[in-house]
Amino acid sequence: MLTKSKNYLMEDVEYLLQRAKEIRASDRELADRYAKIAYLTITKNRLKMKREQKLLICKNCNRLLIPGDTSVVRLYKEAVTYKCLNCGKTVRISYAKRK
Ligand SMILES: [Zn+2]
Repeated sequence: MLTKSKNYLMEDVEYLLQRAKEIRASDRELADRYAKIAYLTITKNRLKMKREQKLLICKNCNRLLIPGDTSVVRLYKEAVTYKCLNCGKTVRISYAKRK
């Protein structure tokens, strides 16, 4: 029962993020609000974030991250770094091979 309801919540989160990406060009505030609602749904219900969702929402200010628009993506020391242009928070994801 619990897992089923979590699946429905995950669908909501995916829908919100998709709408946020679509609406981004015309209404930035609404897109950021969608991203914040999606992030709160994930954290309050202890849902597992997918990799692409982690890169879409800033953990610090909960705004939508679009590479080249609201975030800067760089390759540095065998890792991809995503920097939020609103609050300056960086996320580092390693792509180095495991030994
Ligand atoms: Zn941020």
